Order: sequence, then C-alpha cells, then structure tokens
Amino acid sequence: MECVFCKIIKGEIPSYKVYEDESVYAFLDINPVNFGHTLVIPKKHYENMEEIDKKILCDLIKVVKKIGGAIKKGLKVEGYNINLNNGSVAGQVVPHFHFHIIPRLENDGLKLWDQGEYKNGEAENVLNKIKKEL
Ligand code: 5GP
Ligand code: ZN
Repeated sequence: MECVFCKIIKGEIPSYKVYEDESVYAFLDINPVNFGHTLVIPKKHYENMEEIDKKILCDLIKVVKKIGGAIKKGLKVEGYNINLNNGSVAGQVVPHFHFHIIPRLENDGLKLWDQGEYKNGEAENVLNKIKKEL
C-alpha cells in the first residue's frame, strides 16, 4: 500500500495546502494539536533522518522557518514547537519524513516530556557512546 503522504503530494488524497515548491510540500495536519498545526514534508519519499538527503533537509528547514513566521503573524501566536518524530519508538506513525509545526497558545495544556537526571558516571558513559559514532 502506498504511503499516505505520497498520495497527498500526488493529489490522490485532498489536503489543505499551506505551501509548495520544487522539493517541499506543506499542509495542515488533519488532527491538529492546535489550529494551524502544519506538516512540512519532502516531495520525494524518505522515511527518516537517516535516509533524507542533506540538501532536501536544508530546503525543508527553510520552509519550516518561513511557515513558522507566517503562523506567528497570521494566527497571532507568540510561539510554536517544531517536532520531528524519527522512528516508531519516537511516535512516528507515517513513514514519510515530516516536521510538525505546532502553534502554541497560553495554557493550551500541551505537555511535552518529563525529564530525569544523571547519576555518577552515567553522563560520561553515554557521552562516550555518542561521540565515538560522530
Ligand atoms: P507522526 O505521528 O507520524 O509524526 O505524525 C503523522 C501526522 O500525520 C499525524 O499528526 C496525523 O494527524 C497526520 N495525518 C495522518 N494522515 C493524514 C492525512 O491523510 N491528512 C492529513 N492532513 N494529515 C494526516
Ligand atoms: Zn511517502
């Protein structure tokens, strides 16, 4: 079965298009966290951050900046979250790379995450594991 976002790009599934250029398509999320919640996707199908072409990633983030500014002005909100669920363990449901732009309102109740703390030696250990792969 073909990817739902590829179908949206082809116009086989309707969408409220926010923006389009050669490599990028942006549209309203069908189930918004807040009104104006927008998805910014590459026209070419890449599943995740590991697969995506670096040039296309740059194209996408420029569009995120442009639409973020338009959301702030147009919807008169003071901020927004940019979210990327990379992998199903991170909450990615649609396997076509996408940034979420989520307008934020005062007291909108959206809770992002709980944070923990490092105990003795844990930060150094995790740091070494990451840095050796850079
Ligand atoms: P994910 O959890 O993969 O990061 O987010 C996928 C997003 O795509 C969800 O927020 C969901 O509401 C949105 N979505 C899924 N199917 C459709 C669709 O057919 N049309 C639109 N506009 N959004 C969709
Ligand atoms: Zn796709």
